Amino acid sequence: MAEYYHSVVLDEALCMGCTNCIKRCPTEAIRVHNGKARIFNEKCIDCGECVRTCPYHAKVAQTDSLDILANYKYTIALPAPTLYMQYDLKFTRQHVVTALKMLGFDYIYEVARGAEIVTAVTDRYMEAHQDGLPMISSACPAIVRLLQARFPSLLPRLLPVKSPMEISAMHARREFCAKNPGVEPGEVGVFFISPCAAKMTAVRNPLELEHSNVDGVLSIKSVYFKLLKQMAKLKAPEDFLQAGYQGVRWASVGGEAMALKTQNVLSVDGIQNVVRIFEQLEDDKLDDVDFIEACACTGGCLGGPLTVENLYVARNRQRRHKELMPTVLEPVQVDEMQNCMFEIYPQHLDVTTLDADRTEAIKKLRRMNEICEELPKLDCGACGAPSCRALSEDIVREKASLTDCVFVLRQKVRDLAREMMILEGFMPSDGQNDKEN
Ligand code: SF4
Ligand code: SF4
Repeated sequence: MAEYYHSVVLDEALCMGCTNCIKRCPTEAIRVHNGKARIFNEKCIDCGECVRTCPYHAKVAQTDSLDILANYKYTIALPAPTLYMQYDLKFTRQHVVTALKMLGFDYIYEVARGAEIVTAVTDRYMEAHQDGLPMISSACPAIVRLLQARFPSLLPRLLPVKSPMEISAMHARREFCAKNPGVEPGEVGVFFISPCAAKMTAVRNPLELEHSNVDGVLSIKSVYFKLLKQMAKLKAPEDFLQAGYQGVRWASVGGEAMALKTQNVLSVDGIQNVVRIFEQLEDDKLDDVDFIEACACTGGCLGGPLTVENLYVARNRQRRHKELMPTVLEPVQVDEMQNCMFEIYPQHLDVTTLDADRTEAIKKLRRMNEICEELPKLDCGACGAPSCRALSEDIVREKASLTDCVFVLRQKVRDLAREMMILEGFMPSDGQNDKEN
């Protein structure tokens, strides 16, 4: 099986070993040993939280470079709705779309339109599946991965509808080939312009289908200035828009939920807040809600680590975009529901089992609990693990030792010093003490 690709990686040379990142990781995937961070890939969900947290920019989200366009005869850009809000309002969506063409793309398909299709399909699906509520949005790949790794009991609640990115890619290639007779689908490269690392990972390791319809992912950061330069010299942008405000507002948290027919919805952003909501859902405390929109990034995609503009400035721009367009440009006709549904269903990723052999795993779990009892339970992070429990797990997995805990080490040094003093005769042994007392 091919190795799972991760967009988020460590630039070891930049890491100062400050441990800021270890406690922010929602899956406890980071350790700091010998002054350098390390990511346990099997646990990482590519949420990008450590990219945002690291003060030294040592965590990096890898994406493709524009050079990849040269591999295809024709190219299509899929701008995420977030891209529009990176620019001052004097640059309209039409400016951004036209500038993308000036960069070399042959065709543009707005992911905002894909989002509108997802809304229509979700409404239809939920009407027919009232027994599985609340459903959890599947639009953010980091959230899907979080469910797989940490909340497997909630996987049956995952909305089995493909992401706006995948649906847009499917429609984009088809539309382009239909408009250009003689063009073969294989000659066309489809590229998503992304606000986050999780989308890059989802393209390389698709969660809901065998092969992604997207051929590459470019970060918003990497195209931002190039587009700005084109827009500055643009006189008359093309009159080309595919989506209304309903699709565009998916850029920020609440946008997806607000577009649904049901308004008994809960929108949550920021990976730590999502974890808390999922814990409540596991405890059956949110059964009266129909739909949960969960975004790994604070603010939704506008807060993605690969964006340029400040989240709050971008959010204000999004609100003002509403004045520039109708809520719905063209109503969606759901005529191919099946093509929008998951082709494969994300499974539980067992990242906690301590051994492939069940008996050994139970023994190791027991040992892990014993070790945890010996630790101070302060979760101070000084050992390089995010919690005392995580350190106990690392010890059982032979990735750390008990003396990595500074409190255990200090006690051991004290005990050793005492033994030396007794040996040298500077101190009475405990036995002598007992006699004297
Ligand atoms: S936050 Fe993590 S990756 Fe960044 S310097 Fe500190 S330990 Fe290294
Ligand atoms: S990307 Fe997210 S899950 Fe992966 S190491 Fe960073 S904080 Fe942890």
